[in-house]
Amino acid sequence: MHCPFCGAHDTKVTDSRLVTEGNQVRRRRECLSCSERFTTYETVELVMPRLIKQDGSREPFDEDKLRGGMLRALEKRPVSMEQVEEAISRLKHRVRARGEREVESLLVGEMVMHELKKLDEVAYIRFASVYRQFKDLNEFREEIDRLKQDSES
Ligand SMILES: [Zn+2]
Repeated sequence: MHCPFCGAHDTKVTDSRLVTEGNQVRRRRECLSCSERFTTYETVELVMPRLIKQDGSREPFDEDKLRGGMLRALEKRPVSMEQVEEAISRLKHRVRARGEREVESLLVGEMVMHELKKLDEVAYIRFASVYRQFKDLNEFREEIDRLKQDSES
């Protein structure tokens, strides 16, 4: 952290405390060169990476769109809104944990399927059938067989 007064590199932290209910850290710093004091605020950056679509174009991560897609798959299924929100926050956490500025939208789609699979298999099949656009009925059947094997094992 450069000193805003003289531009020196070396500053020391003289005081550090949590503010705004622990979402921010306030630090008092002192410049080792000119002895000026200043305050910095640190906030965790919770910006979602942008999505890289299959055609190479980019779009912002849209949580509402994600929720909409999941809810469509979960229509009339015995899954509570709370479970859906938990799945979404898990998914967002995993996307963020990659630490990338951009993430393939395909990968996010796979993560959605993974979450839906845990929530409800019917919803998973619905989502996957649209998402993967199964080329033919055999492929669809294979997926269902695979699911059956998974749940039996
Ligand atoms: Zn300074």
